[in-house]
Amino acid sequence: MARVTHPASASALLRHVRTGRARSRAELVALTGASRNTVSARVDQLIGANLLAEGGRGWSTGGRPPTLLRFNSGAGCVLAVDLGVTSVDVAVTDLSAQVLATVGHPIDIADGPGPVLAEVDRLAQKVLAEAGLTPADVCAVGVGVPGPVEFSTGRPFHPPIMPGWHDHPIPSAFGRYECPVYADNDVNVMALGEMGVAGSVEDVLVVKVGTGIGCGIIIEGRVYRGAQGSAGDIGHISVPAPGGRAVVCRCGNENCLEAIAGGGALLRDAVAAGLPVGSTRELVQLAAHGDGPALELVRNAGRTIGTVLASLVNFFNPHRIVMTGGVAQAGAPLLAGIREAVYGRSMPLAARALDITVSDAPDLSGRLGAALMAIEGFLDEDTVHQAVAR
Ligand SMILES: [Zn+2]
Repeated sequence: MARVTHPASASALLRHVRTGRARSRAELVALTGASRNTVSARVDQLIGANLLAEGGRGWSTGGRPPTLLRFNSGAGCVLAVDLGVTSVDVAVTDLSAQVLATVGHPIDIADGPGPVLAEVDRLAQKVLAEAGLTPADVCAVGVGVPGPVEFSTGRPFHPPIMPGWHDHPIPSAFGRYECPVYADNDVNVMALGEMGVAGSVEDVLVVKVGTGIGCGIIIEGRVYRGAQGSAGDIGHISVPAPGGRAVVCRCGNENCLEAIAGGGALLRDAVAAGLPVGSTRELVQLAAHGDGPALELVRNAGRTIGTVLASLVNFFNPHRIVMTGGVAQAGAPLLAGIREAVYGRSMPLAARALDITVSDAPDLSGRLGAALMAIEGFLDEDTVHQAVAR
């Protein structure tokens, strides 16, 4: 996904309009500092490419009221695929990520890419038919995957809970669409979903605490993936183990954050403490009902996660941290532990205005993020440049 390189490129102007930062040529001129002629010529090209439309008059600040510009979100559609370990959600959305049709289905990710992606293909055809669309209408596909993915190729890289998926080219499953396919790990995708369509330029950490722990890094509203795409893999940062015991992580190292405070670790500790739970979800529910020992386990996990987040806050100075994933559903007790550690250990300047919250819509952010990843890819610098040059 190319970065916007020129502040007044067609792609940059389009982005300002579709994210609501500018509604007229005059606002685009003010926002970009480009000349009125340059902006007008590029806007005309975008209108010619059917990506922008004119309609209505804005408020005048003296003189003729400006003609309003709006993004033509119906100019195409994208497929959004949220692959989980036990289920998949597929949606077709317009270019503003408005869902036109969606369907979910149980799967077992361990069945491997063949059967799972065949199911995704079937579901994709179903949602397209439901929305009255055809494969030719699809401009891009976005896929969130529960494991590490090399973003440039869309191939999972030794995903620990996806046997058979290593190096499988996920984009090849979408050959019938003849459009770009973007695959990324689910945490980055959820992070995009948490940012929404409004075009926020904030620096945000989206921390998923499920069975494992991962972090999506958002810099000025965009996902930061690092050199190989593994940025934000905070689950394997070393933390002090409670009681000084060594806990071996699934990665082979000792005392990784997720081996001490992830969902799997919580369940292990709950069972060892004799709590009547058979899953992390049941433990989270027990804590939500105010069970003392369950609350204590969740709060301690929050403190451990918080010590790592405190270092990240000192290093990265984000505007906000958003917690998501199954364990984050515990809400208050987890947040209490996290806040205690973060505010206690972060430098005051970084912590002063820091907001730490739980996701409002964890079930939707995967689908929304996959749609936004596809839309951002489709409307990147090169594609928009080609569209307006036609
Ligand atoms: Zn580890």
